[in-house]
Amino acid sequence: MNFGYREVCLDHDTGPRHPESPDRLRAVRRALKERHGVEYVAANDADLDLVQEVHDADYVESFREFCADGGGNWDADTVAVEATWDAALASAGLAVWAAEMSGPGVADRDTPFALGRPPGHHAVTDDAMGFCFINNAAVAAQAALEDDAERVAIFDWDVHHGNGTQDIFYDRGDVFYASIHEDGLYPGTGAIDETGESDGSETTLNVKYQPGADTADYLAAIDEAVAPAIEDYDPDVLIVSAGFDAHEHDPISRMRVSTEGYGAMASRMMDLAEDCGAGLALVLEGGYGLDTLSDSVTTVHEVFDGYTPMEPDDDVSEDAREVLDRLAAQGFGSK
Ligand SMILES: [Zn+2]
Repeated sequence: MNFGYREVCLDHDTGPRHPESPDRLRAVRRALKERHGVEYVAANDADLDLVQEVHDADYVESFREFCADGGGNWDADTVAVEATWDAALASAGLAVWAAEMSGPGVADRDTPFALGRPPGHHAVTDDAMGFCFINNAAVAAQAALEDDAERVAIFDWDVHHGNGTQDIFYDRGDVFYASIHEDGLYPGTGAIDETGESDGSETTLNVKYQPGADTADYLAAIDEAVAPAIEDYDPDVLIVSAGFDAHEHDPISRMRVSTEGYGAMASRMMDLAEDCGAGLALVLEGGYGLDTLSDSVTTVHEVFDGYTPMEPDDDVSEDAREVLDRLAAQGFGSK
């Protein structure tokens, strides 16, 4: 894969006990060092005008001033230092680069994956929250639309609901947002009946699973709901908000996706992009176990390099089946 990466993303210092630390990127880079076919690209900062297409200018300015004044606690767990502004613009720029270099003609092994931080999917139109300041995937989607895409789909497999991405595009028809997330976790949004409004009606798809959902449950959600819905939507670009905190050994969730499971999901996304004739770009979100994060990113890389991940042989759980049946009743589902 082509990994977007910039050292400045390490300068966003969240303090000694924060789960979203620079060590996350260091661990991923260390693990990728031993792999074949890894390329790194340093992208430009995201353009401020573009950022302000998805965030209110007043909010962006207050975030800039907050960092210029030395940073601090924006809220209980969203922390900035002076360098966070630069890191956030770099992180969004990497996501833009990924969207721009994706394309239906891009060979699987050249698929772009933006390894930036801070992450983005909780950042709403006019506020930072949940470790996120600028919504990287949203800025990337906007960039694709201002390039020559007519429609963009974002699939968010981070264990948390990407409330920010949903918020930004909730009433817009040019971006489809789909998420699989754990019920009971931060930020509490993403109910199954949140499906968009006005021009964005039916362009939001939320798979809210009970804690304990495993790889088979995630793949069923993709096969039965997410992939058919995105195929119907027919995007020109497919962006994956790739968090790795639904991993069975991640310290902050109770989901049970395996390392191979992330490979299987990546493989599904490869097929889906091909079926839609869409470009495919991955953008890092969460993932807080250093080993599970780096193993999972490495497995995703291997899949794009030709590796066939193992499929789980267990059945879909009853809890997951109930959610998928409810989605099917709403018109999301192929079963
Ligand atoms: Zn997360």
